[in-house]
Amino acid sequence: MDNTFSSFNPISRTLMGPGPSDVDPRILTALAKPTIGHLDPQFIELMDQVKQLLQYAFKTENALTMPISAPGSAGMEACFANLVEPNDKVIVCQNGVFGGRMAQNVIRCGGELILIEDEWGKPTDINKLADALKTHPDAKIVAFVHAETSTGVKNDAKALCALAKQYGCLTLVDAVTSLAGVELRVDEWQIDAIYSGTQKCLSCVPGLSPVSFSPAAIDKIKARKTPVQSWFLDMQLVMEYWGEGAKRAYHHTAPVNSIYALHEALVNLHNEGLEASWLRHQRCHEQLKNGLQSMGLSLVVEQDFRLPQLNTVYIPDGVDDAKVRSCLLNEFNLEIGAGLGVLAGKVWRIGLMGYGCNERNVDYCLNSLQAALDK
Ligand SMILES: *Cc1c(COP(=O)(O)O)cnc(C)c1O
Repeated sequence: MDNTFSSFNPISRTLMGPGPSDVDPRILTALAKPTIGHLDPQFIELMDQVKQLLQYAFKTENALTMPISAPGSAGMEACFANLVEPNDKVIVCQNGVFGGRMAQNVIRCGGELILIEDEWGKPTDINKLADALKTHPDAKIVAFVHAETSTGVKNDAKALCALAKQYGCLTLVDAVTSLAGVELRVDEWQIDAIYSGTQKCLSCVPGLSPVSFSPAAIDKIKARKTPVQSWFLDMQLVMEYWGEGAKRAYHHTAPVNSIYALHEALVNLHNEGLEASWLRHQRCHEQLKNGLQSMGLSLVVEQDFRLPQLNTVYIPDGVDDAKVRSCLLNEFNLEIGAGLGVLAGKVWRIGLMGYGCNERNVDYCLNSLQAALDK
């Protein structure tokens, strides 16, 4: 093997899959700024701004709102590891891949899993949750995915949380793909624990997971009888570095430059306006939907619970899934997503997330897909 090495220079792509999404060049520039210490007073100031901006993005006043120094999956673990104690009954609503991961988390934390399943491509049936809550009045937590990236379904977070609250449960929500892409109101909807990711509608680099915990969630964490198994994700320890009025005690070395990038992404979101960002995702979705339909392609998910930022489209009969995707990648530098789980080989997933969610990209995607299909 040749053992001369040189810098890595990837061909740039247009990322229209399930994530990562296209990163705004301004965010890449922010990433290249000089690294400073993670306890430098300048960095502490930046941390405070990041917390405030995340509160804006989540629509919450929760003091414990911060990025976990690892990707969305770590935010998921942080929520479950901190809130689930051995033998706690946890209801998980599953209608895709990520709900399945939530269920795994419950089991690994020693919780008692009550699983409600709905068909992939359909939303969680609230009547099933009502039945489960009646059957299990001792349930402590209700968990579900707001934007199920594996299918393109939006679950009714507001209604599911309102119901869970009637039964005195804490609510735990996956907002990895929903944050900044569709309406999400943490305080108004009574969400107690929520996690997201930087690489979807925030169009930042992958590798951070914004989370937020309500005062009720913090009470449950503080009342734990057993310590959180994960040292790294134990929020009581993390709070001493990130928390309000914290000592800023060393816990781990924050990914300093990635936090610059997240700050820039959130400044961009704040400048555009959260509601304007939701609307832009909806507008581009309409444009994509019309284009796909006029090509004779059909969407998997019904309009009422369709995610604008993740469009699942049936692969037409006789078309080779892998061939089309590799043609798009190799000839058009365009990445779209394959189907997952039961939808593998049956659908494509077209993401319209964050910076990449614009009219020009929708046109580019439609034209490239048409060209690939014509071959
Ligand atoms: C992408 C995604 C995750 C996982 O995020 P990573 O950053 O890949 O760890 C979790 N949940 C949903 C709904 C996602 O779309």
